[in-house]
Amino acid sequence: MPTSEIIIEIIYLVASALFVLSLKWMATPATARRGLFAGEIGMILAVAGTLLHHGILSYTWILVGLVLGAVIGVPLGNVAMTAVPQRTALSHAFGALCVTLVGAAHYYTERAELTTFGMSVLCAEVILGSLTFTGSLMAAGKLQEVLPQRPITFKGQNFVNLAMLAAAVVIAVMLVINPNNSILFPFIIAISLIFGVMLIIPIGGADMPTVISLLNSYAGLSAAAMGFVLDNKLLIIAGALDGSSGLILSVIMSKAMNRSFTNVLFGAFGQVQAKAAGATDERTVRSASPEEAASILGAASKVIIVPGYGMAVAQAQHKVREMYDILTRRGVDVKFGIHPVAGRMPGHMNVLLAEADIPYDKLMDLDQSNPEFPQTDVALIIGANDVTNPAARTDESSPIYGMPILDVDKARTVMVIKRSMSPGFAGIDNPLYYLDRTLMLFGDAKGFVGDIVKELAGGHH
Ligand code: NAP
Repeated sequence: MPTSEIIIEIIYLVASALFVLSLKWMATPATARRGLFAGEIGMILAVAGTLLHHGILSYTWILVGLVLGAVIGVPLGNVAMTAVPQRTALSHAFGALCVTLVGAAHYYTERAELTTFGMSVLCAEVILGSLTFTGSLMAAGKLQEVLPQRPITFKGQNFVNLAMLAAAVVIAVMLVINPNNSILFPFIIAISLIFGVMLIIPIGGADMPTVISLLNSYAGLSAAAMGFVLDNKLLIIAGALDGSSGLILSVIMSKAMNRSFTNVLFGAFGQVQAKAAGATDERTVRSASPEEAASILGAASKVIIVPGYGMAVAQAQHKVREMYDILTRRGVDVKFGIHPVAGRMPGHMNVLLAEADIPYDKLMDLDQSNPEFPQTDVALIIGANDVTNPAARTDESSPIYGMPILDVDKARTVMVIKRSMSPGFAGIDNPLYYLDRTLMLFGDAKGFVGDIVKELAGGHH
C-alpha cells in the first residue's frame, strides 16, 4: 500500500473513532458539547482524508462543490430552533441525492467491473437514496407547512406502494443478473423517487418528526451501501452509525407517543380531529393574573415547571431562568419535569433550558417526575399541552389514550400558561383545564413569565 493511502486510512480510522465518541458523548447534556465538537473534527478529518485521494486529477470542481455547499449550508445552520426538524429533513434529502448521484455515476462508468455483490449493493444504494431524497423533501415541506399537513389517503394505497417497491426490487434483480441491461437503470431511480413521495403522503404532519428520524436511518443505510460500492470503510462505519441511531431514535419517539411503528407509517394519524365541542364550551375555567400567580408561587415550597412547545415558540427560557433564580433564592424547591416528546423534536426542552443555564440536575424525566407530583404545591405548565393531558390515562376514545403523560393533575395547584383554550399538536381538548385546582394564566409564555418575575422581584419578601 502506498504511503499516501496508509495516511488516508489512518485519518479515516481516527474520524470513525471520533464519530463513535461523538454519539456517546451526545447522550447526556453534560458532555453534549464535547460530542458535537468530536463530530465536527471527525467530519473535517473525513473530508480532508478524501481530498488526499490519489485518484483526484483536478481540484477545480471539488472547490466549486465546496463553495456551493457552504453557500447552502451556512444559512441552513442558522434557522430557528423550532425549524430544526425540517432543516434536518433537508440535510437528509441532500445526503440521499448525493448517494444516488454517486451510485448512478458509478454504474455508468464502472458497471463492467462490478461483481454480483457490488451490483446488488449499488441497487440497494440507489433505491434507498432516491426514496429518501423525495421522502425527506416531502417531510420538510409538510413540517414547514408549504405542503398540506393532512394525511392523503386513497383506497388500495398500501397495495399500490408495495407494488411499486416490489417493481423496483424486481428491476434490481434483473440488473444484478445482467448489469449491461442499462436501459433498466433509470427506471429503478424513477420508481424509487415516486415511492418516496407515496410513502410520505398518507402520514400526517404530526408524525413527521418520527418519520424524519426514520429517513435519517435510511440515509445512513444508503451511505453504508455506498461505502461497500466504493470500498470506503469510513462511509460504511458512519453510515451504519447513522442507520442504527436513527432507527433507535424513531423507536424511542414512537414509544413516548404510545404509537407502534406500523401505526406511524400506515395509521394516517391526525386525519380525524376528535372534538367534543358542545360539552367543552359550557364548562368553565378559572383564570388568574400575574400578581396572583406570583403570590401562589412565592408561597409554595415545592414547584415543578413543565415546559412545552409554547415555551420554545415564545423563546421564554431566559425569563423562566430568571423566575427560577428568584424562587430558588427565596428557598422554593424548583425542578423541571421534562416529557420525552415535549416540543417538536427529541431533547428540545433540554436544549432550551441548557441554553438558559438551568442546572442539569434540576431536570427530571418522566419517570422521576411522576412520583413527585403528589407532594408538589404547584405544577406550573409553560406552553405544554398534550404531554399533560389526563385523557391519555382515562379516556379510551382519545387519540392519545395510553400515551405516558406527566401527572401534573396530582399536584395541589396546577397553573397553565398559554394564550387561549386552543388545543396543542394532537388537536384535542385537555380536561386538565376544567379541574377545580387548575388556574389558567392566559398570555404569551415570555410575556407572562416576565410579568411574574416583575411581581416577584418588586413584591415584599
Ligand atoms: P402541544 O401539545 O403542541 O401544546 C403546545 C401549547 O403551547 C399549545 O396548546 C399552545 O396553546 C401553546 N402555545 C403556543 N404558543 C405559545 C406562546 N407563544 N405562549 C404560550 N403558549 C403558547 O405541546 P407539548 O405539550 O410540548 O406536546 C408536544 C406534542 O408534539 C405532542 O403531541 C407530541 O406527541 C408531539 N410531537 C413531539 C415530538 C418531539 O420529538 N418532541 C415529535 C413528534 C410529535 P395556545 O395556542 O392557547 O397558546
